[in-house]
Amino acid sequence: MKIDTAIKQANIILKKNYIKSSLLDSEILISKVINKSREYIILNLQKEINKYDYLNFQKLVTERSKGKPMAYLTGKKYFWKYEFEIGEGVLIPRPDTELIIEQVLKIYKYKKKINFLDVGVGSGSILLSILKEKKEFLGTGIDISKNCLNLCKKNAYKLKVKERVKLFKSDIDNFNLGKYDLIISNPPYVKKLDLKKLDKDIKDFEPYLALNGGLDGLSEIRKVINKATKLTKKNGKLILEIAFNQKKEVKKILMDKGFFIEAVIKDYSKNDRCIISKKI
Ligand code: GLN
Repeated sequence: MKIDTAIKQANIILKKNYIKSSLLDSEILISKVINKSREYIILNLQKEINKYDYLNFQKLVTERSKGKPMAYLTGKKYFWKYEFEIGEGVLIPRPDTELIIEQVLKIYKYKKKINFLDVGVGSGSILLSILKEKKEFLGTGIDISKNCLNLCKKNAYKLKVKERVKLFKSDIDNFNLGKYDLIISNPPYVKKLDLKKLDKDIKDFEPYLALNGGLDGLSEIRKVINKATKLTKKNGKLILEIAFNQKKEVKKILMDKGFFIEAVIKDYSKNDRCIISKKI
């Protein structure tokens, strides 16, 4: 079968299943299967695809038609300026989370060296992107998922920053190591009862561990803030990603715990998304 025909078939199947980027996804999946770039595919539509590759392609298209995110099918996702290896069991990095990187770069523009901690490091998208930008920063990441830590380690190696990364398998309650100039976290913050309202792609495929913020959505945020009081140096900062409707509550928790609110940053859809505070 010709590449062109296989793509056209896949496009129809994906469209029928309400996958918006059906053609693009079909091209990307076929390029994964035959291990060539998307550009190659577009320039070689008349080439034949062998039976084995075609069967693999069909499998991927079927999974995609059920809503499985492209990042899990291709095993990668771009975030900030880099490509991260992604796997099932790890949250797929979101463009809105790049706000944290922007803010860190702004705040520490003239600072050469700091020691920072990422709570719930996942694939390492936040931690490693910062380390790539700031060549003398030292980063520590913790996560309760071994799977995530393995992926993060791989990404650190690929991005050539592994000498500046320390990783620990721990939850925040049991982590007591070091004092940090900065703590960042994109913790699970979706209300337990809202999990079922998430998009199918997310709900059916992404790890609840990275999304479930308990009954009020704030249980993990509370833990992070609580522990940050002990793990931050004086005048150290805490930067948290929050849900669009959590500003008021999170501000209050922070102030109760002795943090001064420096800024609340909106995301690309004009929702409050990131809260910057300082330990006083
Ligand atoms: N922003 C994520 C979502 O869209 C939630 C991530 C989180 O809970 N930290 O589902």
